[in-house]
Amino acid sequence: MKADMDRKLRDFLGARTARTFADVLGLETVGELLRHYPRRYLKKGELTPFDELEVGDQATVNGRVKKVTVRSLDTKAEIPLTDVQKWARRKTLTKVVVTDGRRDLELAFFNQPWLATKLTPGTAALFWGEVTMFRDIMQLKSPGTEILDDEDLSEAEIERRARPFRPLYPATAKLPTATIERSVKIVLDSLDETLDDPVPELVLRREKLLGLREALQKVHLPETEKDIRDAQQRFRFEEALVMQTILAQRRAVTDALNAVPRPRTAGGMLDEFDQRLPFTLTEGQAEVCEEIFADLARPHPMHRLLQGEVGSGKTVVALRAMLSVVDAGGQAVLLAPTEVLASQHHKTLTKMLGDLAEEGMLGGAERATRVGLLTGSLGAAARRTAMLDAASGAAGIVVGTHALLEDKVQFADLGLVVVDEQHRFGVEQRAALSQKSGENTPHVLVMTATPIPRTVAMTVFGDLAVSTLTELPAGRSPIQSSVVPAKEKPDWLQRAWQRVREEVGKGHQVYVVCPRIGDDVKNAADEEGEFVAGDEEKSSKARPPISVLQVAEALAEVLHDLRVEILHGRLPAEEKDAVMSRFAAGEIDVLVATTVIEVGVDVPNASTMVIMDADRFGISQLHQLRGRVGRGRVPGLCLLVTDLWPGSKSYGRLDAVASTTDGFELSRIDLETRREGDVLGVAQSGRRSSLKLLSVLRDEEVILAARQVANSIVSVDPELAGYPTLRSFVRSALESETTEYLEKT
Ligand code: ADP
Ligand code: MG
Repeated sequence: MKADMDRKLRDFLGARTARTFADVLGLETVGELLRHYPRRYLKKGELTPFDELEVGDQATVNGRVKKVTVRSLDTKAEIPLTDVQKWARRKTLTKVVVTDGRRDLELAFFNQPWLATKLTPGTAALFWGEVTMFRDIMQLKSPGTEILDDEDLSEAEIERRARPFRPLYPATAKLPTATIERSVKIVLDSLDETLDDPVPELVLRREKLLGLREALQKVHLPETEKDIRDAQQRFRFEEALVMQTILAQRRAVTDALNAVPRPRTAGGMLDEFDQRLPFTLTEGQAEVCEEIFADLARPHPMHRLLQGEVGSGKTVVALRAMLSVVDAGGQAVLLAPTEVLASQHHKTLTKMLGDLAEEGMLGGAERATRVGLLTGSLGAAARRTAMLDAASGAAGIVVGTHALLEDKVQFADLGLVVVDEQHRFGVEQRAALSQKSGENTPHVLVMTATPIPRTVAMTVFGDLAVSTLTELPAGRSPIQSSVVPAKEKPDWLQRAWQRVREEVGKGHQVYVVCPRIGDDVKNAADEEGEFVAGDEEKSSKARPPISVLQVAEALAEVLHDLRVEILHGRLPAEEKDAVMSRFAAGEIDVLVATTVIEVGVDVPNASTMVIMDADRFGISQLHQLRGRVGRGRVPGLCLLVTDLWPGSKSYGRLDAVASTTDGFELSRIDLETRREGDVLGVAQSGRRSSLKLLSVLRDEEVILAARQVANSIVSVDPELAGYPTLRSFVRSALESETTEYLEKT
């Protein structure tokens, strides 16, 4: 039977194996299996360097056996290797030490004593399983095993093992890499010679890429390193092409949208505001403002991302853009992620504008407007006034939470939407906006303090324009950060609390941040999205992350003479507000909190932040968090407490955070340590993504080339009528989860 891509696997592999593929990896068709590419390749005779292993990894290693012991689990007595067969039905632990030539790795097998007779010293074998830590020794527990120099082999097996490269697949205990390898071989052997290729023939030739059939052969059964490189290159291009085609199609749609041009006018509120500004704009701020003014003057909607560190002065930029739109007769909205932040923005803007925000009031400036606030917790009367002001146009600027979009809020003439602290602003949200502004789409400016590298922006946002503030306004206090290895150096932790006491003694305040609330609601922190899932796997799995309640209890003793209080997302709203107000008023010395404080808190008197179990947070998140201290004249201090031991990769991430305050550098490191799907914001649900080999961080050239090809295809054939295979790839990519990020931009 000939295999084509849509054929079911069970036609080739037998019902049981096919079933396992479907259950374990979600692969049902020939095409799906063939695009389950090897994660890496083992060159014949090469051992895996063990120092590249990380706790939590699903790893396949090639090692040589050094030592084997079998013990009874009941008596703990060692069993002579000549006796192990007799122990087949009893409880045993077989420990095997394997080496890569430099380091050792321990394997633990339960109730498989006969393995001791096979894994004799000197034997080379593949082992696969999860890397765990047991009493500070790196271990694979009950790994899958395949002895490489076994003699009792079928011919097919001998042939397979003679190949120069062994593909190692993303595998599980139920579906080991060897089984995947065998199945792929079967399917490949019956595969048609000509296959429909999503990459057009002409493009293949021009970009010097392998055709689909050849690439599949080479990616799974390479003969040389060049085979691997060529095949991967081809699939990377294919992935980039599909993605860029989607973006090109989307661009074509947005390019057709209309917006009211809001050219900058002289002699308005903006000029008045500029004259009163108590500081000079940084060069970056001035430049970015000019870019924005130019966008606003066009008849198509601006869609621009403004990125800049916490404290880089994004608010002034946004306010100038808003004033410019108000001067041109439109209204502007500022959306914040939380109510607290919305009220804070409202306060800041009102203060910065002074009498420019007092339209119709005694003492208001000649040309003035109103700044409205619309949040869920507003009283009915205040809400009605704010809605009226928005609808009548009396409020030139309206501040609110994102929920404002879903509300029945109407605007007289909405010209600009500024979205704070977010980089995603979805298609639906934009659609909601259009409904508020007739057939014209408002201009959109999205602000974020978590910078993203250029290639990611290009991929994730398509043609979203990006502006960046790279410098901080002068006069900011630097923040100093250190890692505190609490396990290795327990006295350092004591000193950290001592330091907290000293800061309070100087009249400053302190945050202590924990990854979890700890009030026994299951997975509470996950629900609040309070720490990066997946990262916790890399830290000691032995215990759950430390909680606010635990730490508060401990500090009640250690810092018994200080005013210690807690804050987290599940406190009632009034209580949260009350705690925050008291902290802001200096009535609390130490605030033990979850990441609720990440956004929306500005207490210049807070000088110090202690982050517990810091390894459980993402790099960018840590950077964001510490932006909460050192906001006033007081220099900031951030202590990253961890149980990790220096030397591990995860500890290295904390070191990176401690050693630089460059948000871009940290964002790059952060993204590099994540899986590609996460870079694009895909939930870690384990579902398949259409990006397998392409890295939006490393493959800039491929992405640029594919983008050009996609643009030229879409510009002449937007529906892809002449490219049926590409079209069907685009369609299935849109159905897969990866492209959820596209929906959100
Ligand atoms: P961001 O929103 O980017 O985190 P903000 O807009 O809140 O930063 O600005 C941080 C602080 O710096 C504010 O108090 C703001 O008034 C001040 N600021 C902004 N731009 C300048 C500047 N050019 N010179 C001096 N101070 C500035
Ligand atoms: Mg801000």
